[in-house]
Amino acid sequence: MANDPATPELLAGKKGLIVGVANERSIAWGIAQRAHAAGAELAYTYQGEALLKRVQPLTDSTDAKAMVEMDVTNEASVDAAFSEIADKMGSLDFLVHSVAYADRDALKGRTVDTSREGFLMTMEISVYSLLLLARKAEPLMNPGGSIIAMTYLGSVKSMPSYNVMGIAKAALESSVRYLARDMGEKGIRVNAISAGPIKTLAASGVSGLRSMLADNAERAPLKRNVDIDDVGRTGLYLVSDLSTAVTGEVHYVDAGFASTAF
Ligand code: NAD
Repeated sequence: MANDPATPELLAGKKGLIVGVANERSIAWGIAQRAHAAGAELAYTYQGEALLKRVQPLTDSTDAKAMVEMDVTNEASVDAAFSEIADKMGSLDFLVHSVAYADRDALKGRTVDTSREGFLMTMEISVYSLLLLARKAEPLMNPGGSIIAMTYLGSVKSMPSYNVMGIAKAALESSVRYLARDMGEKGIRVNAISAGPIKTLAASGVSGLRSMLADNAERAPLKRNVDIDDVGRTGLYLVSDLSTAVTGEVHYVDAGFASTAF
């Protein structure tokens, strides 16, 4: 990691569940690496057998305490995963939700042409899954716990191609605020990170990603794009006791892009 600030063991004694590592480019992986370096014990889920070969060597390098298959569209799979996580972890201090999906067809052309099935599937995987996982994690969570989700500027500004995913991210950000209200009584915090564009598996489904990356780097005050470690550093802050009074927030990690008009 470049310019490593050598974080102290901010997460020593804390246990986290990371949902959404598909490969070494995943944003969830950037957060997992920072959490591991800060002393957390980690459990992971992976979406299906096909991804396991890619994911296992990564998670092994962080001494994963549990590695469980979970498809968020399948309630039985989610129940089975949480029961195994409860057995292996006992309790949780944080949950990282880094999951989204829309068909390639929905991520180009006109938003008005989004099909009913495409809309519902995008909302189920990218939004409902946060409510579902928060509900399943809640009984395992210690007071002072933290849940984070990943969002993007397309929630509050329209842009080419992001389409139904922008609508889903608006709902995700609203979900964060409502979950923060629900969970606050138990001392559990819920926040989102709004990351700038990063070339990942999910992002490569968005038509025109390359020019989006170029525009971003040019217009952002920091004159660059962000990487998964930029998100990992902020993720570490949000799941640690450095952010004890922060909840219901959408925190931008985008080299300042969202703050500019031109
Ligand atoms: P990624 O492809 O590495 O991660 C997406 C993850 O979602 C994968 O691990 C995949 O297995 C999981 N997933 C999809 N459908 C699932 C299902 N049915 N059940 C369980 N898991 C499922 O891509 P990423 O860019 O790291 O995406 C992570 C999050 O970050 C997403 O919410 C994405 O919208 C968000 N985000 C990405 C960018 C970007 O530019 N890459 C920017 C802002 C926000």
